[in-house]
Order: sequence, then structure tokens, then C-alpha cells
Amino acid sequence: MPSIYELDLSDLASLLDDEPRYRVGQVWRGLWDEALDVSGITTVPKALRQRLAAQFAPALEVAHEVTSDLGATRKWVFRLHDGATIETVLMNYADRVTVCVSSQAGCAMGCSFCATGQAGFTRHLSVGEVIEQVMFAARAAAPRRLSNVVFMGMGEPLANYRVTAEVVKRLHEHRSMSARHLTVSTVGVAPAIERLAGEGLALTLAVSLHAANDTTRDELVPLNRRYPLARLRSACEVWLETTGRRLSFEWALIEGVNDTDRAMHELAEYAGGLRAHVNLIPLNPTPGYLVRGSRLARVSEFREGLESLGVNATVRNTRGRSIDAACGQLAAVTNARVSRVSLRSR
Ligand code: SAH
Ligand code: SF4
Repeated sequence: MPSIYELDLSDLASLLDDEPRYRVGQVWRGLWDEALDVSGITTVPKALRQRLAAQFAPALEVAHEVTSDLGATRKWVFRLHDGATIETVLMNYADRVTVCVSSQAGCAMGCSFCATGQAGFTRHLSVGEVIEQVMFAARAAAPRRLSNVVFMGMGEPLANYRVTAEVVKRLHEHRSMSARHLTVSTVGVAPAIERLAGEGLALTLAVSLHAANDTTRDELVPLNRRYPLARLRSACEVWLETTGRRLSFEWALIEGVNDTDRAMHELAEYAGGLRAHVNLIPLNPTPGYLVRGSRLARVSEFREGLESLGVNATVRNTRGRSIDAACGQLAAVTNARVSRVSLRSR
């Protein structure tokens, strides 16, 4: 059975065309404003809830939950209808509440330092499967209001283009989220960046750069062999010209690989030309990549160096590292352990 979040407003209206018109609005508000599941929409009669519950099923089943940062960071492993698993992370900050969603189960891009890439690709997620992650997090965040959605979980959002664009559009239209609060992170699928620029969607784009010379980037990010840095730069230029919005580059600092002075100058030149903001992420450990992240002192130096070269740079914190919930650590591996445990306890 599909998720009810596969439906757009017009789909819901035609499904409920035998009901009074105001019911459509009631169901829609329950789903989108209040993030309720069908059974929780008590503004409509029970018979209608039952009818919807017979046609639609929640897409996500919690297989496992872990928390860290004194409860401020929560990660869920969800099992999907076909047994595929994904991860979603909720992060409470003083000024915002952010959910990091997965766009695919696994990822086919094979970046060497990323746990998702190491685990390989299972399948694309559907619109409903991505939106349900947001709604689940919105319920868990209460009484605080979920303010930001970042597509930085498992998968490459621009490899699942139609779903990503549709989810962004719906979150903007139906939950009134602004471009500043919706971020899509891409490894650099150049033609998809250009296409996305033309959609007129409200979103912020982050490009995972990690290296600003092709030799190093070919090694870290295999997709660079297909869309090398010059090709990526022209896609970024199209983004800037078409949307008028700045973009940011993500750079996971890896000791001796991309944290040298030379790497800093290469990055400053590449980012400076595009007026991009740089987000530095100290590399988080993953089982399949043995090179270390840069030491914190080097991270600060690198940031200051970029600033002195005229590039805005911030350091992203490593929320959730201890529960494998930080950037690049999502692999839904806990699932194997969880299913063994639950089998035993049955
Ligand atoms: N596929 C998209 C979005 C998911 S990855 C992308 O690659 O952009 C989200 C971010 O985590 C990306 O910037 C990615 O490069 C980064 N990342 C991956 N592995 C990491 C690791 N081990 N440590 C720190 N950041 C990592
Ligand atoms: Fe995929 Fe992004 Fe991980 Fe690369 S960094 S393997 S694109 S999820």
C-alpha cells in the first residue's frame, strides 16, 4: 500500500470526491500542518479515517532509534515496505530544528570516505518515503517546530531528481518552508544542477567539493571523472546566474589529503570565482576509509587561511558522531544487529 504522502492536493480531492468538500481541507491540514498520520486526524469522522487507513499505509517502520548530545540529536533507522533500510537524523539547535533526510537507500556514487558510498546502492526513495521522514521528525520535534530540512542523509538527491524536486516543491508550498530552510546537497551532478536551476524552486544548494584539483577529486569522488571541476564550475555558474542565489561548498577535511596549504589555495581560487561559501566538515570516521580527519587545530587554521584569502568559511560541528549519525556515517548497518536482536527476543 502506498504512503498517503504520495498524494498531492488534487489527488486527494479526487479521491474524496464523494465526501463534503471541506473534508479535503481537513485531511490536508492534518497531514501537512500538523504532521499527523491518518489515524490521528480526529477532525474527520472515524469512518473516513478507516477508509484512508485501508488504502494507505505508513511508509516507515522504526527499526532502531539512538540518541546523543543529551537527547538533542536523534537518529532513526527505518525499514521500508520491501525491507530496504534508510536513516534520518533530527538535530535540535538553540535557534533551529533540522532534519537530515535520505533520498535513496544507499548510494551509487561510491565516494571513498563515505559510509553510504561504501555500502552501495539499493534503490531510489519515493516522494512519500522522503516526506514521511520529514513528518516523522516534525512529530518527534514537538513542541518545537521543525524549521530546516537538509538532503544530506543517505543517497545522492540529484540522482533521484524527480523525487527531490517534487519534495522540495511540496515542502515549500504545503509547509511554507523558505529557500533558506531547504538545502539540497549534491556530489556534483552537473547537468542536474543546471536543470534544477531552471525549476524556479525555493532551495539552497550545497555542492560537496572536497578537492579543487581533478587528480585528488577523481580519487575522493569518482563522479568527478564524468563531470570534472571545469564542468562543475560551469554548472555552478548557471546556478548563480539563473537563481541569483549563492551556493556553498562542502569540504570534509582529511589529514594530508585536502588540508594542505596548496589545497587551501586551490579551494580559495575555485570558491572565490563563484563567490561561494565554504562549509568545512572535520572528516567523520567510517569503517571503510582509514585516513584520518584533520586535527581540530588544523581545521581552525584552514578556516582562517580561507578567510584571509577572501573566502567565507564556517566549520560544521560533528553532531551525532558517537551514534554514527554525523555526515557520511549513515549506512543503516545497525539494522542487521537490530533484526538479530528482535528475532531472538520473539
Ligand atoms: N550525496 C550528497 C548528500 C549526502 S552526503 C552529497 O554527497 O553531497 C552529505 C555530506 O556528507 C556531503 O557533503 C558528503 O561529502 C559528506 N560526507 C560524506 N562522508 C563524510 C565523512 N566521512 N565525514 C564528513 N563528511 C562526509
Ligand atoms: Fe553518495 Fe554523497 Fe556518500 Fe558520495 S558522499 S557516496 S554522493 S551519499
